Amino acid sequence: MRVAAINYFVEKPQQQHAQRWVSNLLDRAYGGSQRRKRIKVLINPFGGKGSAQKWFLRDVEPIFAAARCKCEVERTLYRGHASEIAEKLDTNVFDVIASCSGDGLPHEVFNGLGKKNDAALALSKIAVVQLPCGSGNAMSWNLNGTDSNSMAALCVVKGIRTPLDLVSITQGGQRTLSFLSQAFGVVADVDLGTENLRWMGDLRFTYGFFVRVMTKTVYPCEIAVKMEIPTKGEIREHYRQELTKSRQILEQQRCTSIERETSANDDVGLPPLKYGTVNSPLPETFVQIPGEKTGMFYTGKMALMAAGANFFPATIPSDGYLDLITMDGDISRPAAIKSFMAVENGKFFDMPYVNYQKISGFRLTPKMEGGKGGFIAIDGEKFPLEPFQAEVHRGLGTVLSKSGKMYEVDGVVPTERSSRS
Ligand code: ADP
Ligand code: MG
Repeated sequence: MRVAAINYFVEKPQQQHAQRWVSNLLDRAYGGSQRRKRIKVLINPFGGKGSAQKWFLRDVEPIFAAARCKCEVERTLYRGHASEIAEKLDTNVFDVIASCSGDGLPHEVFNGLGKKNDAALALSKIAVVQLPCGSGNAMSWNLNGTDSNSMAALCVVKGIRTPLDLVSITQGGQRTLSFLSQAFGVVADVDLGTENLRWMGDLRFTYGFFVRVMTKTVYPCEIAVKMEIPTKGEIREHYRQELTKSRQILEQQRCTSIERETSANDDVGLPPLKYGTVNSPLPETFVQIPGEKTGMFYTGKMALMAAGANFFPATIPSDGYLDLITMDGDISRPAAIKSFMAVENGKFFDMPYVNYQKISGFRLTPKMEGGKGGFIAIDGEKFPLEPFQAEVHRGLGTVLSKSGKMYEVDGVVPTERSSRS
């Protein structure tokens, strides 16, 4: 997408009329979206193919300028820099932090905001968004339905502030915020355990996956969860209700401009941990689920994990739940292959060996022999292969989205989107 201008000459007596026309046009173009957003832009010069700077100048900046957005640009100089910038950012001066990067920088930005003394307020004031310049651009696929930088820039200009649940991960003595996914077993392994095959390009994921399916790899562990919605049927019904609510939100926002919904008593740090940390006694409300034969343990707060990889078609940005997929590692090879192929054709949710549930917290303890042979991936980043616990905080974070409520994907309930495609 490119910026273009059309000029008309208006006679003096018609000036008032023209001004009214312009103001109506802007109302229609923006709906409930905030105009002239103030944007802190972060550029990761090492994300993806290393083109973030070029793409920002060519595809994004002209669109922000045309929309009269105020921009301040900073390049990240090292790992963890984005987190430091977010931690120090004056939240009265900006509305948005936009990362020209993969999913690594938004992960850092949420964590940086989470370190502020007024973390909860900061996370509700600042919308965290991505301009897709990385190798993994899940955030933009989910919220904007694209990995085009110019289209994503327009989505920032016109995006509606949307609450997003964030997940606290405790491991050892650390607490980390996560916005995308938590993986153990085959998915984490294929994501992080095939680094030595980078020369294969994307093929390393397919290859890595087939090797593990062929050898029926299992990742023994202990799993305890706070169950919220246990069956696929109830999950579908829950999704249907949320979809209806989202249509109402969109309808309201078409006509009224919404103001920032922060209240003064948000002025505190991160919410306390309801279920304690991984070092606390196991909460009584947690139930054990079998883990000896785990092939895949995958929880998600967004639907798409990569382009076309809709693992979590029932996720809702702010329903307060994590979507959990578990699959045994010792099922037949054809069944495993069939299940994974179904991710691409949108039938994954309904596959018989795929367990899909909604939970609000869990604890996972790896039990691999010798404590080796596997990975833990949080938002795609490598974590130590040690016990960890997760809990959801409803609507703690803020992003910008098209609908104000749902992801740009075909969910478990057919919509106009899916019947068109
Ligand atoms: P990709 O999708 O290619 O992985 P990301 O945006 O996720 O791109 O970034 C990958 C990692 O790069 C992140 O963990 C981030 O902390 C790190 N990073 C950011 N800036 C720099 C830098 N200047 N030098 C090295 N690493 C960086
Ligand atoms: Mg990344």
